[in-house]
Amino acid sequence: MKQAQSSPSLAELLPALKPLFDDSGSMVFLYDESDDLAYANDQFYELTCLDPGSTPTWSDMIRICHRTGRGLLIEADDIETWLSHARKRRGSVPYRQFEIDTVDGHWLLITETIIPGLGILGIGVDITRAKNTTTVLQHEYQQALVEAETDALTQMGNRRALDRLRRLLTLSGVNRVISALMIDIDWFKPYNDSLGHLQGDECLRIIADLIRSGFRSEEAYPLRIGGEEFLILMVDADERAATQLARRILRTIRSRAIPHPTSQVGHVTLSIGVATSTVTDDETISTLLNAADKALYESKGSGRDRVTVASNAD
Ligand code: GH3
Ligand code: MG
Ligand code: MG
Repeated sequence: MKQAQSSPSLAELLPALKPLFDDSGSMVFLYDESDDLAYANDQFYELTCLDPGSTPTWSDMIRICHRTGRGLLIEADDIETWLSHARKRRGSVPYRQFEIDTVDGHWLLITETIIPGLGILGIGVDITRAKNTTTVLQHEYQQALVEAETDALTQMGNRRALDRLRRLLTLSGVNRVISALMIDIDWFKPYNDSLGHLQGDECLRIIADLIRSGFRSEEAYPLRIGGEEFLILMVDADERAATQLARRILRTIRSRAIPHPTSQVGHVTLSIGVATSTVTDDETISTLLNAADKALYESKGSGRDRVTVASNAD
């Protein structure tokens, strides 16, 4: 009768496996059951920056990378706490996959397989290129989102930005005092008709810059919501602060005195409507914007180049 064969030991298996691992093109390492490094190929030593041929335990390998700031990127203030967390994950499941990066910018997809009786076999595939492509795509996606919400002529937010802002405002908390400044250029059609559309665009750009120069970016959010219509939203700003800003913008535009050949005053002016209310939901934002719009048209009706404050937007 044949005798039952015991399973081969690691020492017996390695000579057969080594050539496979050496030429795999991946980083390969094998920790035995007492977590000593039993085998590692050249890629392992290159990526971890360990001395070639050295056989530290897994914990020591991590400690060396952390201490020297070379090899695997280990971001930990207290390495022993980090190790005790990592040890719990390590070896807890028969197979696990995770990404790590190295100090010099390589990304590796590591698969660790527990081989009963042998230890943990780790294979690391260099995914740096794929990772960088993903980062570029994510960046481009974010860029595209920003561009979709930005008016190309003035670099202010557009109507899509307003929609997002409305969602944010209603999400971020009820009962916030919000002021809206609705701004419209006076006699802009005649301006275009007399100086041409390109000059009109240039004028829009200048006005957008002058509007923006009236406040710090954390104080108010400017948007171009129509051809020659702007909206400024001020969060947690009362009617007094909003009216002050509206008057400051009018003064700035007046003193800049952009020539307007076909307006009575001879230069470009703005009409502004101001409304303030406590916003609780999207409907109250609509009410606020309508009130600011109505106040704007009162400014138009009563002679232009002025600010009108809505009597009560609530
Ligand atoms: P009011 O004082 O009543 O506002 O008169 P207005 O002529 O400014 O108003 P109206 O709404 O009749 O005309 C708006 C004009 O704005 C129409 C168009 O000639 C001009 N306009 C709108 N969008 C643009 C743009 O993107 N570029 C340029 N150059 N002109 C624009
Ligand atoms: Mg208009
Ligand atoms: Mg106008």
